Amino acid sequence: MKTVQDYIRTIPDFPHEGIMFRDVTTLFADPRGFRMAIDQLLHPYAGQPIDRVVGLEARGFILGGAIAHQLSVGFVPIRKKGKLPAKCIEQAYTLEYGEAIVEIHDDALKPGERVLMVDDLLATGGTAEAGIKLIERLGAQVTGCAFVIDLPELGGRAKLEALGMDVHALCA
Ligand code: 5GP
Repeated sequence: MKTVQDYIRTIPDFPHEGIMFRDVTTLFADPRGFRMAIDQLLHPYAGQPIDRVVGLEARGFILGGAIAHQLSVGFVPIRKKGKLPAKCIEQAYTLEYGEAIVEIHDDALKPGERVLMVDDLLATGGTAEAGIKLIERLGAQVTGCAFVIDLPELGGRAKLEALGMDVHALCA
């Protein structure tokens, strides 16, 4: 039987020479693969109370929307600066070259809400850490961080676990 990993392809030299980009569009496009990924992302959280799903731009929206639907809870996006229309709080984080900023609407989560945060891939953990900070600054708490792919050699898992996060990933 095929695993989630079997539906993901690696594209060499994208977006820059030397980068091996994990392309999850082939996973999302396959009905069995996509359902398997959503079911497996949710598996550890069965029976745990979750009030909201937060997805990180952009592939986290595709996964997070499906997961929120499955859990019958609402979905909240974290986006790159300048994309969300209402009042936001922002969080800067460091990239390999320079800095990026992500935002969340300042009324998107309520204090005490339990959040499952979702993205396609965990690399250095910079994006996910910024997402966690935004969620926590709104007074909500992160029940878990779920990813399709974890590249542990890039340090993201260790970074999130050092923050006390539960990190769940389907493949490396
Ligand atoms: P990090 O902040 O952990 O270094 O990078 C993770 C972010 O970059 C995620 O939002 C993820 O979507 C994106 N990303 C980085 N490398 C890849 C890749 O090879 N494939 C995909 N699909 N996303 C990547």
